[in-house]
Amino acid sequence: MHVYFVGAGPGDPELITLKGQRLLTEADTVIYAGSLVNPALLQFVRADAAVYNSATMTLEEVIAVIEAAVAKGKKVVRLHTGDPSIYGAIQEQMDALEQKNIPYTVVPGVSSFLAVAAALRQEYTLPDVSQTVIITRMEGRTPVPAKEKLALLASHNATMCIFLSIHMLDDVIRELMEGGYPPDTPVAVVQKASWPDEKIIRSRLDAVAGQVAAASIDRTAMIVVGKCLDSNYALSRLYAADFGHMFREAK
Ligand code: SAH
Repeated sequence: MHVYFVGAGPGDPELITLKGQRLLTEADTVIYAGSLVNPALLQFVRADAAVYNSATMTLEEVIAVIEAAVAKGKKVVRLHTGDPSIYGAIQEQMDALEQKNIPYTVVPGVSSFLAVAAALRQEYTLPDVSQTVIITRMEGRTPVPAKEKLALLASHNATMCIFLSIHMLDDVIRELMEGGYPPDTPVAVVQKASWPDEKIIRSRLDAVAGQVAAASIDRTAMIVVGKCLDSNYALSRLYAADFGHMFREAK
């Protein structure tokens, strides 16, 4: 009897970890986040397992299903999109299990911002351009602390991966420009990275809104902003011939 919070990965069923896949095949009860988890992952679940879609459930209902299953000695998988630690609302579930003395384990997953980098064939951390990746979102019904307003974060000109905000793209663009990104800053929008119907838009801050509207992208998309997207950059020191390290002597 045990509960596993498992990262499902960004969409492509092959992007779940081996451990996550094994746990899915072993589970008696699976609760998956139906709004974002690719239903193709349910192919790994046993036919006789109980499967719940949490999109239509409250926190209390999710915990009640877990508690009832655990009381019967069942193995439970709670399947979250991407990695569960990022906008996964798992803390409240873990805390509820803690209170009930129900043991649980977290199995990480490939977060969508990483699948987006792969889709864009982009390194986020280019020498001389940016060595920092900011994972954030626009304020919606979930409040964002004042010190983390997009305009303030934008002032760093780091690479930014903006989740959960495509439906507020105009506000995102306004805040990014307020924060000091020039209008010609490169932007990419990737919808459903690693899914068969993935869409990629490459643009600039002052032009991206029209392109996103024309492509009818209004959900499940990541906004990536930063000079790394089209930039001259310095080659990495790690592979430079004159740079020695633990495994290779400088030439
Ligand atoms: N825990 C998830 C994020 C959940 S929040 C993770 O680690 O990726 C949901 C948001 O994630 C979406 O609004 C979108 O911004 C982003 N997202 C999830 N899957 C995506 C995908 N395949 N491609 C692009 N963005 C995605």
